[in-house]
Parts: sequence; structure tokens; C-alpha cells
Amino acid sequence: MLTNAPKGTKDILPSQVYKWHYLEKTFADICLRYGFKEIRTPIFEHTELFTRGVGDTTDIVEKQMYTFDDYAKRSLTLKPEGTAPVVRAFVEHKQYAEAQPTKYFYDIPCYRYEKPQSGRLREFHQFGIEIFGTNNMMADAEVICLGKDFLEGLGIQNIELRINSIGCPQCRDEYKKVLREFLQPKHDDLCDTCKGRFIKNPLRILDCKSEVCQELVQGAPVMLDYLCEECATAFTELKTDLNSMDVEYIVDTGIVRGLDYYTKTAFEFVSNKIGAQGTVCGGGRYDNLIEELGGPPIPGVGFGLGIERLLLTLEANDIEIAEPQSVDVFIAIMGDRAKKYGLSLLRQLRLKGFSAEMDLMARNFKGQFKYADRLRAKQTIVIGDNELDEGMITIKNMSTSEQRLIPIDNIIDELIK
Ligand code: ATP
Ligand code: MG
Repeated sequence: MLTNAPKGTKDILPSQVYKWHYLEKTFADICLRYGFKEIRTPIFEHTELFTRGVGDTTDIVEKQMYTFDDYAKRSLTLKPEGTAPVVRAFVEHKQYAEAQPTKYFYDIPCYRYEKPQSGRLREFHQFGIEIFGTNNMMADAEVICLGKDFLEGLGIQNIELRINSIGCPQCRDEYKKVLREFLQPKHDDLCDTCKGRFIKNPLRILDCKSEVCQELVQGAPVMLDYLCEECATAFTELKTDLNSMDVEYIVDTGIVRGLDYYTKTAFEFVSNKIGAQGTVCGGGRYDNLIEELGGPPIPGVGFGLGIERLLLTLEANDIEIAEPQSVDVFIAIMGDRAKKYGLSLLRQLRLKGFSAEMDLMARNFKGQFKYADRLRAKQTIVIGDNELDEGMITIKNMSTSEQRLIPIDNIIDELIK
């Protein structure tokens, strides 16, 4: 137990972490280009934020939260998702008093007690964005377009955008009735989870992962046919705006999203190459969440994108992220005087901004070269007593094996060149 990470968690070793750096930077770059600002919120929040914000009939709140009491008996929960905390911060710091809209992005770990499998972890990571403050479907289109440009910018081609509208509480209530009537005769065959959803949240049955339920919902009435005028107009506008931005989509009436707070727009980016957990990015509009969480009646729209699933998608598409060469200079030394000189040079190089390394394992000279190769050092500097006596140092380019003799005093200038 001591030497195993908890079930559903993963270490990210140095041999993989460069991929994360690359994705984090690429995501931040595109968000900044789209005018989003980064926000960071705590890893844990008051439990009530999620029971209220995510909704207590959702899988997350019913059975997936990491909830604990602290020593003062406050109930706290590790973030299972990113939107509710960002809304909380927006309201707490009265950011609605600034010029709207507010556009945030974030990069967070999330915690959900789930059955671990490929693309489904208990600690996973999300990139997310949110736009608060506007009903305009241009905002929904902008959120979707950013997701598309990010994914395609990474080289992923065959990812599908599926959109739907799940209406507002008024038209959805009407639809829920019709959906229940349709499912009533099949009720006893539903999986146990969906039997529970039948009354509280029948839309979630459409999204059930069980094959039996998938079969049972075939031919069910669809939300799009029950949208009120306002929601129907919004959906038409969204499609028009996406067309204007040259964003292709498929209308998929089965997209309902797992969280209760969504209204109108719901969408997913789905990869058909990573198996059952194919949704890399999911999001939508939530016009009542901010008010529900104690803020003014301000609408919002956003998405969450699973980083582990993104990495699986990249792998499945044979898209490689190049590993940066991290060591600029390796200093190989022979003898005590060389060591003394080497240590001083090492420090100067690092202060000048080079990534520089020396052997800390007292390897022999040959061993030091092998190690420099392992580190994939770009250049190796050779210092021995002879070199010091003659005031000349050899620099070896490790990829071409070309060697040059340089006056010892010029070494830093030479490397800067
Ligand atoms: P799913 O239907 O796959 O359970 P979800 O509807 O619960 O997804 P969201 O809450 O919308 O997912 O989260 C947004 C994204 O975060 C998902 O599209 C997915 O990429 C990722 N994600 C969600 N849960 C997990 C998990 N347990 N492990 C890894 N990634 C996850
Ligand atoms: Mg889920």
C-alpha cells in the first residue's frame, strides 16, 4: 500500500511532464488570444457550493464527491468540477460590477469517486473556460470555437462537435413529462441508477452508459421539439453564428450533459478513437447558476476539457509532442583543478541562463560522457589539467560530434553565440 498511489490517481513522471507543460502553455496561449484571463481558486470549497451548484440529483453530488470535515467540523469538498468555484469567486469579488462580459480560463485538478478505467480517474485534470454576463449566442459560439481551435491546433482532425439545446427550466419541465410518459412502460427494465433518475432527472437517462438503457431510449421524444420560442431562437442563432465562424457541427439530441445547471446550449467534442470515454470536452450554457449561488441573475457559458482524455486522443492519433532538449551544456572534468574550475564555470553558465550540468556521482571520464549522452546534452565541455595548463578548452557538439578548441576565457561568449 505504501508504495502504491491511491486507486484512480496517477503520477506524472518527468518523462511525461513535458507533454503537460506543452498542453498547458498551448491552452493558456489560445485563451489569452481569445481574451480570456486566468483565474485560480482553492482545491477545496464548502460542500454546499457543489450540492447547490452542481445539483443534488447528479452523479457527482450523489456518489462521487470527496467530502470531509475539517478539525472545526466544517464540511469541505475537493473540487469535482471547475465552474461552481469560479462562479463563487466571481460573486465573492463582485466582478460583475466590472465591464462585462467576464472571460475566465483555468487549469485544475478535479476529484470524483468513480470506477477507474481508461479515461476515467479519481484525480483528473481539466482545462476550463467560462464567459459570464451575456445571453448572446455569440458567446456560446466563441466558447465552442476556442475548443475547436485548441484541439485542431494540436493536430487532432477527426474530432466531432455535437451540439444540442436542453432548453430552460420551463420548456424542460414540459419535455420531462413527455419523456416520462414514453419511458413509463419500460421503467422496470431501466438500470437501477436510471430507475432513480426517472422521477428526479429523466434527461440523464438519455445519457446513461448502460447498453440496456441506450436501447430503451431509442425513439424517445427529443428536447429540440419541445423548446419554447426563446430557446428555439437561441439555438437557431447559435447555429448561424457557428456557420459564420466556419465551425462544423452535428446536432445530437442525445447530448444532455451530466450537471444540473445547464440551460439551452449543450455540446461535446467527441473522439471516436479512445473507446467508451470518448468525450474530450463538454460544456454548455447555465443561465441560472450564478443566481442560484447567491449572485445577481447573470448568465454564463463554458466548457471543461479532460487533459488525460486529451492525451489519450493525441496518442490514438499518433500525434507526438516533441520532448525539449533540456541540458545546454555538460561539463566533463578530469582531476581536482578541473573540478574547481568546472564548478565555477557551472555556476556562471547557470547565472547566464544556460541549463548546465556536471556529474555528481564521481563517474570516470568515459562515464561522464555516457551520462551527458543520456541527458541529451547539446554540448559537452571537456576540462582536464592539460586544458587548464594550455588555457584552451574543448567543446563537443553532441549531435554532430564536432569538436572545437576554444580559449578558456572566451568560453561563455562562445556558448552565447
Ligand atoms: P462523462 O460522461 O464521461 O462522465 P462528464 O459529463 O461527467 O463526463 P464533465 O463533468 O462535463 O464530464 O467534465 C468535462 C470533461 O472532463 C469530460 O468531458 C472529460 O473529458 C473529463 N472528465 C470527466 N470525468 C472524468 C474522469 N473521472 N476522469 C478523467 N476525465 C474526466
Ligand atoms: Mg461523469
